[in-house]
Parts: sequence; structure tokens; C-alpha cells
Amino acid sequence: MNAQRYFRPNVQALQPYVPGRQAAPGKTIKLNTNENPYPPPPAVVEAIRQAAGGSLNRYPDPLASGLRMAIAKTLDLPGPEWVLAGNGSDEILTLLVRGLVGENQQLRLPTPSYILYRTLADIQAAQWDEVPFEPDWSLPDSFWQSDPNVRLVMLPNPNSPSGSVVAPEEIEQRSQDLHCPLLVDEAYADFADSNCLDLVRRNEHIMVSRTFSKSYALAGVRMGYLVAQPSLIEQLIKIKDSYNCDALAIAAATAAMLSQDWLSDVVAKIRTTRERMWSRLQEMGFDVLPSQGNFVWCTHPSARHAWMHEQLSQSQILIRYMNYPGFGDGLRISVGTDDQIDACLMMLQRLVRQCEVTS
Ligand code: PMP
Repeated sequence: MNAQRYFRPNVQALQPYVPGRQAAPGKTIKLNTNENPYPPPPAVVEAIRQAAGGSLNRYPDPLASGLRMAIAKTLDLPGPEWVLAGNGSDEILTLLVRGLVGENQQLRLPTPSYILYRTLADIQAAQWDEVPFEPDWSLPDSFWQSDPNVRLVMLPNPNSPSGSVVAPEEIEQRSQDLHCPLLVDEAYADFADSNCLDLVRRNEHIMVSRTFSKSYALAGVRMGYLVAQPSLIEQLIKIKDSYNCDALAIAAATAAMLSQDWLSDVVAKIRTTRERMWSRLQEMGFDVLPSQGNFVWCTHPSARHAWMHEQLSQSQILIRYMNYPGFGDGLRISVGTDDQIDACLMMLQRLVRQCEVTS
């Protein structure tokens, strides 16, 4: 008996998105899923404790109003109606594809980028229109071309795995030709020099998604949000689960949003380590892109990336090996603490030497 036949054909054919490995806490150095290596703001733990001692027998606020207000105030938005809270920013992406892209319509995305976008289109029985980045990680003209069948465009900015950024001015100017909404996925924007928040106020077709998983060190809590014109938010509220965010996550994220000094300190530390990683990897002979995220993408002329990844993994150092058809493979290393990065770099140095001896 094979009960899979009960499912829609597009679900049966689906290639599931495979997230980076989660290891049991302990000796593993985890640099594979772009988490924050530092603990979250202290106020978060206290907020969760208080919420847990409160009324967990009651459903949470369906709109997470307090959190929306804290976000609007901190980001200087006109009001909470410009914000939608989601169960991680992945839920925001799901809601947008569900609401905007119908069966056989298209979701446009750049490649190499966040692989989940494709899966979301597949679930919808929609198609993805993948536009390759140029070799210098800029976007070709075709990315901005209007097409009546393309109903939504997603652009991670900074992009993963490259850490590259498309300038907000270019996004604002070029997206006018699209004639459909554009989501700028800013999961990593807190680590970057620029962002697209200002564009949302001026352009009804531009939206920005953010997450608490990276800069706020709350990947385990699951909270993300969308900033968009209120008329777009209203439509999305109609299709979300009534209680999409739980009370503990709402309390945690609100406390995190109010911890802006903590955020600046941690982001500064991560950016400093990122620059050090970048120089050291270059010295070792890697081709390494300047990154605006909390990770670094690198390739080595020996191209033994899968082997390097495997060797590191055997030494309990997890990084991400990525292989994109038509583009090639490489290593994405999340920025960890200085000690974690030193251990990773030391091991990589040894592996590079072995490659040089055997080549
Ligand atoms: N966008 C991008 C580009 C990401 O890399 C990730 C993390 N994998 C997400 C969104 C989702 O983050 P979360 O669901 O944890 O908010």
C-alpha cells in the first residue's frame, strides 16, 4: 500500500527543502545555519519566564499587537498596521506565496539564493522563474523584466549564500518596471550597511521581511515579520492561521526588539569577526566574497569543497557545503565566536595544505 497517492501530484513530486543539520548541544562547533553564536538579550529570558507564569491557558493575541507596536516604534514606521508578525520569516514567505501566486503562475527569484523559495512555489503548484546572478553577483536586466505571469518576486538582500547586496537605490528604481510585488528578504540586513525599509513607505509594491533568528539570536523561538503597506498586510491577515505566533515567542520578540543596545553590540562583534575570517581565508588561498551577512561564502582553487566539509564535520565543525547546478559548489561558513572561528580556520588551513601536497 502506498498512501502517498492521496496527495496532490505537485506534493508527491516535491523536492523538500533540507535545512542545515542540527547537532546535539555539546562539543560541536555549529557554523552551518547562520545562527547567532551568542545568547539572546537577557531581557528575553525574563520576558519568557513572565509569560510562562501568566495565562498560557488562553490563546495568544492573534495579531501580536504589542510586538507590532514595538517594531513600528523601533523602526520608525507610521504605525503597527504596517507590520505582520509571523512564525519565523519562513511563515511570512509562505503567506506571500500562498496569497499572491496561483497555480501555474510564477514566482521569480535569483539563483544561487535561498532554496526554500522554490519549494514554496512547488507546494502551490506554481512555477519558479529562476534568474541567475551575474558572475559579480549583480542582477541581470531580465530579473527586472515585467511578465504578466510573474506574480511575486523574491530577493534576499543580503543574499545567501553569497553575502552580496543589491543597492536599495537600484532596487527602488528597477522594480518600478516589474508590475508585481517585490519582497526584499532582509533576514541578514542587521549585519549590512544598508537596507530597504525606507522604500516600503514610498512604494506600494515593495515589502521587506525580517527575522529574530539571526541578529537577535532567537532562532529557537520562531519569530519573523513583514513590513508592507497596510492594504497588503490586511490581505495577508485573512489567510494566516488565527494564532500563528505563540505567547512565549511574542513576549520574547517584544523584549528583543526593545534591546537595541544589545543588538548594536552583538552585531558589531559579529561584523568584526566576519572581517577577520575574510582576511584569513584570503591568506589561505580561498576566493572569498566580501559579505554583508553573518556568514562568508568561499571557494578554493582545489575545488575539494565536499571533502573539506566532510573532514570538518568529522572534527565536529559543521559548515554548509552547497552545490548549485550550473553554478558550482562552495562553502558557506557562519560567523561564530572568535574561538569557534579560530578552530575552524585552523582546521581549514590544515586541509588546504593537504590539498596542496596532493595536487
Ligand atoms: N530568508 C533567508 C534568506 C534565510 O537564509 C532564512 C534562514 N534560513 C530565512 C529567510 C528564514 O528565517 P526564519 O524562518 O528563521 O525567520
